[in-house]
Amino acid sequence: MNTKQKINQLRAELREHNYNYYVLDNPTITDYEFDIRLKELQALEDKHPEFFDANSPTQRVGGEVTKNFETVTHEFRMYSLDNSYSKEDLQDWETRIKKLVDGDIQYTCELKYDGASMSLTYENGSLVRAVTRGDGFQGDNVTANVKTIKSVPLQLKGDYPPKFEIRGEIVLPFDGFNKMNEERLANGEEPYRNPRNTASGSLKLQDSAEVAKRPLECLLYNIKGQNIGINTQYESLEKARAWGFKVPEASKLVNSIDDVLKFIEYWDVERHNLPYETDGVVIKVNDLQQQEELGFTSKAPRWAMAYKFKAEQVSTRLNSITYQVGRTGAITPVANLEPVELAGTTVKRASLHNADQIEKLDVRIGDEVYVEKGGEIIPKILGVDLSKRPNDSTPTVYITHCPECGTELIRKEGEAQHYCPNYNGCKPQITGRIQHYISRKAMDIEGLGGETVALLVSEGLIKNYSDLYELTKEQVIPLERMAEKSADNLVEGIAQSVKIPFERVLYALGIRYVGETVAKKLAKHYKSIDAIAKASQEDFVNVDEIGIKIAESVVDFFGSEENNAIIERLKQFGVQLELSEAQLEGQTNILEGQSIVVSGVFESISRNDLKKLIEDNGGKVSSSISSKTSFIVAGDKMGPSKKEKAEKLDVMMISEYEFLQKIE
Ligand code: AMP
Ligand code: ZN
Repeated sequence: MNTKQKINQLRAELREHNYNYYVLDNPTITDYEFDIRLKELQALEDKHPEFFDANSPTQRVGGEVTKNFETVTHEFRMYSLDNSYSKEDLQDWETRIKKLVDGDIQYTCELKYDGASMSLTYENGSLVRAVTRGDGFQGDNVTANVKTIKSVPLQLKGDYPPKFEIRGEIVLPFDGFNKMNEERLANGEEPYRNPRNTASGSLKLQDSAEVAKRPLECLLYNIKGQNIGINTQYESLEKARAWGFKVPEASKLVNSIDDVLKFIEYWDVERHNLPYETDGVVIKVNDLQQQEELGFTSKAPRWAMAYKFKAEQVSTRLNSITYQVGRTGAITPVANLEPVELAGTTVKRASLHNADQIEKLDVRIGDEVYVEKGGEIIPKILGVDLSKRPNDSTPTVYITHCPECGTELIRKEGEAQHYCPNYNGCKPQITGRIQHYISRKAMDIEGLGGETVALLVSEGLIKNYSDLYELTKEQVIPLERMAEKSADNLVEGIAQSVKIPFERVLYALGIRYVGETVAKKLAKHYKSIDAIAKASQEDFVNVDEIGIKIAESVVDFFGSEENNAIIERLKQFGVQLELSEAQLEGQTNILEGQSIVVSGVFESISRNDLKKLIEDNGGKVSSSISSKTSFIVAGDKMGPSKKEKAEKLDVMMISEYEFLQKIE
């Protein structure tokens, strides 16, 4: 056997042992024997660098240091999941999806692992990339760190497809977590708070050798790719397992929501015996064709649902209530609590939402309150333990004036929130608005962060977002922590933002109720800021899906002279305040007012492109057939019950080609 063959043999052998140990939990040799073989391989590789392989088992020990994690755009967006909390929620979900797909629905039930989500890309059986979820659109490239996790296969086995992505959760099992904390305590260090944050923190360590020391695991649940020959979710779990991934055995294929509930009941108790943390169950429509038909909302797949196990509750003392002022002037009352342990974290604050909520709960300072931690980051107060109420307690009186600027608060008819109306003079509003303007989904200004904005405002250098464009390097250098280079970056980043397209600028302006989706709609419909500024409330309401609240708010915004002056200045600085030529191209309003359903599988165009074409031409994509449907673009394999419905309601069906001709 020559050296190359020897190296390959050792690698294959070690890989198998790794798999037995970390994926199957069933080692067939001792750790000592494993180490000897690993050292042997290491020695050979050191002597023969020409046979280096980044995915060799020797690479598991780490050593690569990443200073800045590269940002990578996900080929397939990583969505979040909708949550349900009861049997009724699940039944409602089933009713909704049954309207959208044909035939019986089977469900795959899986546990919801509580860790950090991860997308792994494999090419020809080798791990090429590991990327964190990030914001779902793009994440960080943490390949060097993930390679050190032993249950992540570096080389697959069996008949895997040439290229695919697989998603899962990196978790830190309780055992390993507790060991890490024992060590920290012994070293006089503060213990880590919970396994989940420690797992996601580990992925961002710069030194992969440090990550290698942490007992992380990777549990997989979803395969993504083109033509990978898989038809159901359950099959994909089995395949992934066969290729060498760690896929927990707990998953189950069932035929009804009743059986889903049985799975939930069983695991709500049994999960306490698992080695890692779970916070619920994920239910997925099993058939991938049906999944495709159901598609996604702007946040989550319609074909999946998370069921959250009941959250833990504790009681603690309410010490005080403070009031925060948001960027829109909205006031949020916050409960400051006697610190208490809850679901693995120390809770000090809880949201009280608004004045009605305080009144409804009748919470008073000094009360013992029940606190629950659900999916949200900030826990909520459920009620008061009246048996412990102090004798001298008095009802909470909501503030009448802004805690920041002293202006009298207002509350509009029918709204829950109080507002500080001092739009241009209230500091947190000014700062918050500019922080929103520069944020990633808005103008995405590189080199400028929220803290610097706060500093610029308090130093009096800027009063609104249009002032940003006149900032000079000389002005910002004297600021705290500002070096020459960062000052350059800041000014350059601001200058670059004039390239950001109109719909995002519109969102960046921070008009109340104008979120990303509404901004897109308005931009598409009106095409320029001038047209929007001129429109009346009635005009707006006639635009699809723009309600009275939004209309009022937009009219209000442009009714202010100050706002118009700011926009005038933005214009002078070259900020995009209308759709560009390129954006206008290909857009028509041929389909204006039409509601169109897309169903089946298409030959010449993807479902998403088809939907985009409909929207670009002024039409509205609707997911279910009704008497209001203008026509259906029907592809191959359109379900029989949909067809039946279309025929019954006498809705026209056209092919993808007829559709393309129509918009030519
Ligand atoms: P959430 O962050 O609460 O919206 O929940 C969505 C996240 O649950 C996903 O991004 C995954 O990281 C995670 N997750 C955990 N287990 C599963 C599973 N079996 N299937 C899908 N997602 C899961
Ligand atoms: Zn104020």
